[in-house]
Amino acid sequence: MTTWSETVLPQGCIAKFVPRIRCFDCPGKLYTAGPEHSVANFQLHLKNRNHQNNLKEREIKEMASSDFEKVDSI
Ligand SMILES: [Zn+2]
Repeated sequence: MTTWSETVLPQGCIAKFVPRIRCFDCPGKLYTAGPEHSVANFQLHLKNRNHQNNLKEREIKEMASSDFEKVDSI
């Protein structure tokens, strides 16, 4: 039985899985998890001022759109 790395990768290559986290509020940006098996790097991003601004903007948009839905249903 051969493993995945033996069949796909050329000899001498080592496959490393690096998870990337996409922030819902900051489109187009990917953040690496870590260090090790934690998401401390991403948690740091959640405290970032840019992210906080994006989060607020989304909340305002969501509130506004839910108001529109109420108006439509009347
Ligand atoms: Zn973000």
